[in-house]
Amino acid sequence: MPERNLGMETYAHSDLTIDAFQTLACGLGQPAGCSEPLVTAIVQSTTFTRAGTDDDAPHQYSRVSNPTVSVLESALGRLEDAPDAVCFASGLAAETALFLALVKAGDKVVCGRSVYGGTTRLLRDLLEPLGVETVFVDASDALAIEGAVDARTRVVFVETPANPTLELTDIRAAARAAKRVGAKLVVDNTFLTAVVQRPLDLGGDVSVYSTTKFIEGHSAAPGGAVVSRDEAVLERVRWVRKSTGAIQSPLHAWITLQGVKTLPLRFERQSRTAAEVARELAGLGSLRRVLHPSLEGFGQKRLAREQHQGGLHGAVVTIELDEEACDVRAFLGALRLCRLVEHVGSVETLVTHPATMTHADVPALQRRAAGLTDGLVRISVGLESSAAIAGDLSRALAVSRGGAARPSSSRGCVPAGSSA
Ligand code: PLP
Repeated sequence: MPERNLGMETYAHSDLTIDAFQTLACGLGQPAGCSEPLVTAIVQSTTFTRAGTDDDAPHQYSRVSNPTVSVLESALGRLEDAPDAVCFASGLAAETALFLALVKAGDKVVCGRSVYGGTTRLLRDLLEPLGVETVFVDASDALAIEGAVDARTRVVFVETPANPTLELTDIRAAARAAKRVGAKLVVDNTFLTAVVQRPLDLGGDVSVYSTTKFIEGHSAAPGGAVVSRDEAVLERVRWVRKSTGAIQSPLHAWITLQGVKTLPLRFERQSRTAAEVARELAGLGSLRRVLHPSLEGFGQKRLAREQHQGGLHGAVVTIELDEEACDVRAFLGALRLCRLVEHVGSVETLVTHPATMTHADVPALQRRAAGLTDGLVRISVGLESSAAIAGDLSRALAVSRGGAARPSSSRGCVPAGSSA
């Protein structure tokens, strides 16, 4: 595949406005020369011909590397002013390779207690039996991280904003704690993307993504990515990927690349709409909690302003229904515009009930400690109007309180208890 212009020449990376970031994103993956396809080709080949046994061909076998995947890897690296990323079949495949690259039996991981349920399961049920201890801490408390790290700690893993409680971790403080003991700070940046938060500029060693979410953005292709400026980490992660075989498919990399080109615009709009929806829901006065870093009452407002770019705080709003006054299942079943799914980050507004869906595998005690009650509902705000989204949610809330007739053909499906 010919050289691709990755669009960085004319932009200094730091302090990019949304407009400049969008301009950068449009150029990612474009060809440098003439008579070349404007859109990256999908190279659907398992293997690549060689001139001889000792040639230095860039691609040999698609479990190791593939030209289409490489274009996406360059693009995701450039979004964070980093070398080429390493792309995977899913976000959890990326996390698995990262942990296998960074820890071995006898090592310790310090992990935020409010992370994606699959991350908790990976650490607790897969890595713990292999001899890797994980200590879960309240990562919104810098002192808790500082107190948990020791000489055995190889990785500090945080997700900020946390999923689904939206507590923030002070990335600079967590980086200091990790560095003190020679550990790597890994930030799951899935919820904010490089458009709003750049962990590597704040002292983080690695940003890890489920590109399945906002980066791809259309619920069309799973994927994951490891982004880092530490070449040794990238090399080791690439080696683990080659050894375990979880590279992203060329088709899914291509679909994800199309998503990257509109990411800044989509994410800005979705973040602004989320702030409006959050304000509207908070104004109802009938919810136990409405969480979004844009709200005046948000507990970590100062950190949100310091750590998030462009006055944006992401597209996820979390609400807590008063279970004594409302029927949560009726609320979920009454939604019509918003879709009930185990997912965030699409152009449609998506609603998840963490206790029975994404976090069903997290032990009840840990769920409660993380403030993850049965009344908690996560809303991933899409590209619809804020009035339409808030209207659907308000109407479903009225239904949940018995204040309106239940729709006869509700589109929502009430979860029976599952966990992806
Ligand atoms: N990280 C976060 C914050 C997530 O929400 C998810 C999935 O929901 C993952 C990681 C795992 O990503 P994937 O579903 O692509 O494996």
